[in-house]
Amino acid sequence: MSKAELDNLRDRVEEINLEILKLISERGKLVQEIGKVKETQGVNRYDPVRERKMLNNILEHNEGPFETSTIQHIFKEIFKAGLEIQEDDHRKALLVSRKKKPEDTIVDIKGVKIGNGAQQFIVGPCAVESYEQTAAVAAEAKKYGLRLLRGGAFKPRTSPYDFQGLGLEGLQILKRVADEFDMAVISEIVNPADIEVACDYIDVIQIGARNMQNFELLKAAGSVKKPVLLKRGLAATIDEFVNAAEYIISQGNDQIILCERGIRTYEKATRNTLDISAVPILKQETHLPVFVDVTHSTGRRDLLLPCAKAALAIGADGVMAEVHPDPAVALSDSAQQMDFDQFEKWITELKASQAVRV
Ligand code: PEP
Ligand code: MN
Repeated sequence: MSKAELDNLRDRVEEINLEILKLISERGKLVQEIGKVKETQGVNRYDPVRERKMLNNILEHNEGPFETSTIQHIFKEIFKAGLEIQEDDHRKALLVSRKKKPEDTIVDIKGVKIGNGAQQFIVGPCAVESYEQTAAVAAEAKKYGLRLLRGGAFKPRTSPYDFQGLGLEGLQILKRVADEFDMAVISEIVNPADIEVACDYIDVIQIGARNMQNFELLKAAGSVKKPVLLKRGLAATIDEFVNAAEYIISQGNDQIILCERGIRTYEKATRNTLDISAVPILKQETHLPVFVDVTHSTGRRDLLLPCAKAALAIGADGVMAEVHPDPAVALSDSAQQMDFDQFEKWITELKASQAVRV
């Protein structure tokens, strides 16, 4: 074969490449159209029966030189790509996504802005145990200019025999402390029926890891005008986490803070595995502020400082940690809450590292 003949064949191959591209793109556009119709009809996008029929038809017409299995593989990839653009369109529609709203959502908690670039701290005891205990932590936090106080009133515990929290009395204590110290208070609500009444006492509704897919609770939190701090589930994927936030925003409440709190893995050195890369992923994919809870993710006091530094360095909007006047006698999470001396060291170092970066 002469060089000219070879060049001719090569040119023809390149032309065919472009023809295939044109045809694949045309197919993609048609599939997108079909996806839109299916969405309005509420029909499932993936239709295996139809896919099997299309494949059979293609394979019947295959006259070589490619093996049936090769043709099947190529077309399966084309089908898959079509399904993916349909799903991308669907994802684009998520209200929490950056595609839907490119600007950062700023959550306003009694004047403290979350998500505007200034990194914030939420500290407080695991559980509200008494007025005195909660007020002591509030006074300590205020020394360092912090205005966001956490404390559990309804505690979802692994064992039903463990301290379950003070319930409504706990919320009342939080309100009193918030008023006296001019702070905003954050507390977990576990029952959809309690959401409304909780709004009278607290400034942020926390939805805990164990309830991340309690869809009725998410909807109830979405239908009030209160900021919500949504924790990532114990074994939730980022996609599930984002969709849980979508449940809240779909009811009209966009004041949502996502909180990475570690996920369950095979690793035993820590209570959970802090998925630090979830922070930039969530920041890229959603417009919501992202917090990192260093207490529940690590379960280790010695890791609270390095992990908080990592969270701030990777771009979290803030860090949550538990502080107790006397952790040794705390009614929950006594192994990992900081006492006041440890807290002073922790917050001072973090504030210094913030100052260095600014
Ligand atoms: C909490 O923050 O009090 C708590 C129970 O955390 P999580 O839901 O992340 O376990
Ligand atoms: Mn705790």
